[in-house]
Amino acid sequence: MVKKKVFEILSQVFDPEIPVVNIVELGIIKEVICENNSIEIKISPTYSGCPAMNIIEDDIKFQLQKNGFENIVVTKVFSNWTTELLSNETKEKLKSYGIAPPNRINAIEINNEKKIFCPKCNSSKTNLKSKYGSTACKSFYYCENCLEMFEYFKET
Ligand SMILES: [Zn+2]
Repeated sequence: MVKKKVFEILSQVFDPEIPVVNIVELGIIKEVICENNSIEIKISPTYSGCPAMNIIEDDIKFQLQKNGFENIVVTKVFSNWTTELLSNETKEKLKSYGIAPPNRINAIEINNEKKIFCPKCNSSKTNLKSKYGSTACKSFYYCENCLEMFEYFKET
């Protein structure tokens, strides 16, 4: 019962870099341990060194405290987080937000160069502009069809 409530609250926490996908959908939550009055949340960073993790950690505590929980411990665990953990529904959310989702099916290779489909027009006429986007988790691509930049959520 408590666990279910905790998961509901955690679904209100978003990765600040991707405001459409919550941290449960992102597969960041590894374990929730409820004991008497204390709660331990084990989180796994999506990409090591992702600066958003500290913001996420603070937000988890804030949201839980707002809902009357006390003694909250957030522990970082390092597990093999992979973009394969994202459901198709989550990938669709990324795409409608304008971020090309990590998807092996969404990428084709032409002349050994990986082509990413534009999330807006589905064109494969895209070029890598910068290996690092607004964060290390994403790359910047340019679409020659709609002449716009977009971000690609790197697969791992
Ligand atoms: Zn496009």
